Amino acid sequence: MKKYIFLILLQTLFVETAFSQKVIPASVSSNAVYPKLVIGIVIDQMRYDYIYKYWSKYCNDGFKRLVNEGYSCKNTNFNYVPTYTGPGHASIYTGTTPAIHGIVGNDWYDREVASRVYCVKDKSQKTIGTLNEKDSSGSMSPHRMLTTTITDELKLSNNKKSKVIGISLKDRGAILPAGHMANAAYWMNAEGMWISSSYYMKNLPVWVTNFNAKSLTQKYLSQVWNTLLPINQYTESLSDTNVFESPYEGELLPVFPHNLLEIVKKEGNELIKATPFGNSILKDFAIETIKSEQLGKRTFCDFLALSFSSTDYLGHQFGPTSVEVEDCYLRLDRDIAELLKFLDTYLGKNNVLIFLTADHAAPENPLYLKSLGIGAGTIDGSTFKSVNETLKNMYGDSIIEKYINQQFYLNNKVIGRRKLDKVDVENYIASQVVLVKGVAASVTRTTLCNSEFTESPRMLIQKGFNQKRSGDVMLNYEPGWMDYVTLGTTHGSAYSYDTHVPLIWYGYLIKHGSTVEPINITDIAPTLALLLNIQFPNGCTGKPIQMLFK
Ligand code: ZN
Ligand code: ZN
Repeated sequence: MKKYIFLILLQTLFVETAFSQKVIPASVSSNAVYPKLVIGIVIDQMRYDYIYKYWSKYCNDGFKRLVNEGYSCKNTNFNYVPTYTGPGHASIYTGTTPAIHGIVGNDWYDREVASRVYCVKDKSQKTIGTLNEKDSSGSMSPHRMLTTTITDELKLSNNKKSKVIGISLKDRGAILPAGHMANAAYWMNAEGMWISSSYYMKNLPVWVTNFNAKSLTQKYLSQVWNTLLPINQYTESLSDTNVFESPYEGELLPVFPHNLLEIVKKEGNELIKATPFGNSILKDFAIETIKSEQLGKRTFCDFLALSFSSTDYLGHQFGPTSVEVEDCYLRLDRDIAELLKFLDTYLGKNNVLIFLTADHAAPENPLYLKSLGIGAGTIDGSTFKSVNETLKNMYGDSIIEKYINQQFYLNNKVIGRRKLDKVDVENYIASQVVLVKGVAASVTRTTLCNSEFTESPRMLIQKGFNQKRSGDVMLNYEPGWMDYVTLGTTHGSAYSYDTHVPLIWYGYLIKHGSTVEPINITDIAPTLALLLNIQFPNGCTGKPIQMLFK
């Protein structure tokens, strides 16, 4: 009898062990069943076509390797506006849009405090990693993000055993992806040093202090930036001497070679962010993070969220068709190749799950488009001066409190004091602003709260509209029109030049292939959740990408 019970027990144990190998939670390490490390790579301002535009000049081990060995979702788009960095990173990692996660812009107007607020600013936190008492660049946290991220869910799945770290040159590019429960987020201050916030830690780990002590920023800036390949090979870009680019401070013309040794004297160490070497130092720091924190070498699945931002700084300054931006991508390609090669020997390809995407894309410079006969132009608050004056004459007071993120915030106090009908005021403004050149359409808060749009661009406005944080009259510009820039470019619209980004999956469980099926940026987080067998983020509205599981 005893023997019989023992056998049953043994059998139960065996069955449970066999079964648990199949449905083992992400918190339990297994070479074959779960990745040891997830790396999210966001390339700031990367258009999907950059993969193909520069293809012949990429090396075999960077972007080409990701495409040739991984799975490309070639038709991935942002499904809300405004297409900016803060909302972009939040939407990738929360699997939902600003309507729900609340990051409605990099900055927005906060009616309660009657001022502009920055998406990750948190005055209750201090900078960690600087001796300069006045350096507030670390007084940041994710406190304004209203939902969990996929990185939060990974930590919730195993009682916080997974390590989650976010790294970017930009605070928002590190903080929002790493979520509310991160072990750390690091970004770069004006001195070119890696810092953090008291939200995460009391002191920098010794390895970060040691990394800063190497003064790599200064080393990278002690050179003349010349093109990686002979400049006459940059045939995909405009001539280097075109008139649509901004020079660095102190530079007469925005042309190669860029003497960083001289420019740094004017711009300071922060200059590194607006050179391809900002991406290189991020790659160096990422490899150091993986080694020092033993990411992927522990019992639990770890997550490193990387965001390469120099592409965005250079895009804004020189525009998407510049030799500078092309050179930045060719160098980033080599940096990514180095990171992949390191992971090969450190963990092995099948133990790492990587996805690569962007936080938004970017249009051509408006003056360049105009020179080609294509409609384009720029708009800012002053564009609506005549509308403002008409309103003042009608109501005898300033009805518009703020114009930001293509939205008007109305002054509710004046509307209340003068006993105006708010809906009438919204409708009147909406009807007037579309008369302005470059404005294609407008939609009011009341309409957004009472209807459901299913087609772009109004659907994208609705998904970017947060009832508490957004404005009262939202605009959509004509294609080619953007917020004010003369040289370089900017982004933010609902059009594909701003919404269409790359999405490549690589490594653990990922088969080679590609699809042109439409995919939303919010589909990344739930896809990750299924690959890791964990909960979806708590505000998730995206859908898992089915092709990856076939
Ligand atoms: Zn960005
Ligand atoms: Zn940008």
